[in-house]
Amino acid sequence: MAEDANAAGGSVLVAEVLRQRAVRERARWEEFNRRAREEEEEGAERGRTRRAPARGGDNGDDDSRAAGARNDEVDETPTAATVARTEPTDGDDDDDDEPMCRICFGGEEDDAKGADRLFAPCQCRGSQGLVHVRCLNQWRARSRNNASYFECNTCHYRYHLERAAWAGRLEDPRVLAATSGCVVLFAVLSVGVVVRLTATRALVPLFARLAALAERAGVTGATLNAVANLGTPRPSHGWRDSVRAAYAACGTAGANTKCDSRALRVALREAHRVVTRSIALVDASPLHLEFAFYRVVEWLPPWWCVGALDGWNDHFRARVTVDQLVGESSSADVGSWRGRWWWWLSPRHCAGDVADALDTVVAGLVVLGFAAFGWNLGTRLRGNFRFNFEHLLLPLAMMVSSHGARTARLIVPLGVVGGYYEVYRAVRVWSKELLTRFGERVLEVRPRPG
Ligand SMILES: [Zn+2]
Ligand SMILES: [Zn+2]
Repeated sequence: MAEDANAAGGSVLVAEVLRQRAVRERARWEEFNRRAREEEEEGAERGRTRRAPARGGDNGDDDSRAAGARNDEVDETPTAATVARTEPTDGDDDDDDEPMCRICFGGEEDDAKGADRLFAPCQCRGSQGLVHVRCLNQWRARSRNNASYFECNTCHYRYHLERAAWAGRLEDPRVLAATSGCVVLFAVLSVGVVVRLTATRALVPLFARLAALAERAGVTGATLNAVANLGTPRPSHGWRDSVRAAYAACGTAGANTKCDSRALRVALREAHRVVTRSIALVDASPLHLEFAFYRVVEWLPPWWCVGALDGWNDHFRARVTVDQLVGESSSADVGSWRGRWWWWLSPRHCAGDVADALDTVVAGLVVLGFAAFGWNLGTRLRGNFRFNFEHLLLPLAMMVSSHGARTARLIVPLGVVGGYYEVYRAVRVWSKELLTRFGERVLEVRPRPG
C-alpha cells in the first residue's frame, strides 16, 4: 500500500510539474509577444534582455519569415490550449529560445562543464529536449520505475551509455545484497552492544542501588520487589566454563562418560543451580532486553542448552535435571546436522563468551526488529490509513489479544526482514548514484541545437 501512496504522491508531483511548466510556457509566450512588439517598434534593434543576442544571431538570415510568423502570433491569446497545440510542432521555435533543462527548468551557465552541462540524451524535442547531466542522473537513480535508469520515460529511447569496466559490479544484486547484509549486521551488533552496555553498566546498577536504599529506609512489599527485580544482575553463562574445566580436570570429556570426580560433581551442581534460576528467568531484570524477550516469547535459544527438553513450559518451570543439562547432546545425534549444531552449542563445547555474544545479537535484533516494524507500520498508516487500519492494525491487535506478548515472535523477524528490504532499497539508490557519477556517462544523441 505504501506503493500506492507513493504512486499517488508521484502523480500529484507530476501534475505540479506540468502546472509549473504551463505557467512557464505562458510566461515565455508573453515575453515572446512583448519582444516581438518591441522589435517591430524599434525596427532591427536587438532586445535588451539577456537572451536577445542569441535570437538576434538566428534572425539574421531569415528575418522576414520570422517577423511574419511573429505578426500572426501577436494577437493570439496564450491559452493553455494553444500552448498544448503548438508545442509539438514548434520545436524549432523552442530551439531558438534560451536552452532550458526539462527537469529543473534551469538554463546553462556560459562555461558549464561536466554535470552542469545541458545535453540531449534522447529523441525528445522542443522544451523536453535538453536536460542537465546532473538532473538526469538524479532522476535515473531515484525514480521508482526501474526502466527510468536505462531509457527516457517519454520517448522510450534507450540511453547510449558509456561504462567503466567495474561499473557492472555495482549493479550486481549479489553485491547489493551482501552490502545490505553487512549494513544490517553492523546495525544489529552495534545496537545490541549499546543496549547491553546501557543495561548492565548503567540502568541495572542504578536500580540495585535504589533497592538497597529503599531497603535501608524501611520500604517493603511490592514496590521494593519491583525495584529489586529491575536491579537484578544479568544471568551469567559463566557456569559453562566451570563445567568445561571440570570435565577437563576429570580427563574424560567424551559424551555420556560417567565421571565421579568431586570437582565435576560440584561444578555440575553449581551449573544446575545457576541454569535453573536463569532459565526460569524468575529474577532476571526485564532491562536485559534479550531475557525479557526470551521470557515473553517463551523461547530459549539453543545456546542455553535446554533444547533437548520437551515443550516451552518445561523451560519456565525450570524442571531441568543435571543429566538433561549436560547429557542433551548424546553422541547419537552428532551425525545429523541438527545434532552437530546442538553439540557445538552444548555446555562442553560452547564457551560462555560465545553464548554471551549471541545473546547480545538477540538484543540488537529485538530492538531493531521492533523499531523497523513500528516504522513500517507508521509509514503504511500514513499512506493509507483506512486500509492498513483494517488489514494490518486490527488483525495485529487481535493477535496480540489472543496470543499476548508471544506475538513478538512474529513481530521481530518481520521487522528485521522489512528493515533489510529498506536497507536494500537505500543501497540500490546509493549504488546507482555512485554509478551515474563515476562509473558511466550518458552520451548525447544529437548535436546541441542552436
Ligand atoms: Zn536541470
Ligand atoms: Zn525522450
